[in-house]
Amino acid sequence: MLKDECIFCKIIKGVIPSFKVFEDEFFLGFLDINPLSKGHTIIIPKEHFSTIFDLPEDLSNKLFKNIKLIAENIIKNLNADGFNLLQNNFKAAGQEIDHFHFHIIPRWNNDKVFKEIIKSQHKVSNNELLKIQKLINFKKISNI
Ligand code: 5GP
Ligand code: ZN
Repeated sequence: MLKDECIFCKIIKGVIPSFKVFEDEFFLGFLDINPLSKGHTIIIPKEHFSTIFDLPEDLSNKLFKNIKLIAENIIKNLNADGFNLLQNNFKAAGQEIDHFHFHIIPRWNNDKVFKEIIKSQHKVSNNELLKIQKLINFKKISNI
């Protein structure tokens, strides 16, 4: 996607309106237009990066500091009991907007958010886990 067509770049420029909840030199936080829960917030870098692979390391550190500040503020002011961080990369993973972002999703005890996703968890054999471990293990892992 071209940067000029990117919805989140347009939100940064103010071409598309948004309900901002946080802003600093590098990041913008605003309410998701289709929230999964009350206070569902999107945080984006002001510079356009597509996925986590494109995000520079120094920005990652700053981003995590800001995510914690936003989450703390949500918990305090919305009386949330917890929150999920969600970060989709590529279409297959549900990334709709090609501008790197984190979702901060406030949660309350016994709410129904992600109920359907949790249902799709299933047991697999140790044999299967071992096969997958062999495929994706790339650092020496001690046998604890
Ligand atoms: P993704 O699926 O790419 O991880 O998430 C994109 C999120 O952006 C979705 O949850 C969607 O509701 C939200 N979104 C899409 N367009 C807009 C918009 O114009 N304004 C706001 N505030 N959120 C948007
Ligand atoms: Zn963008």
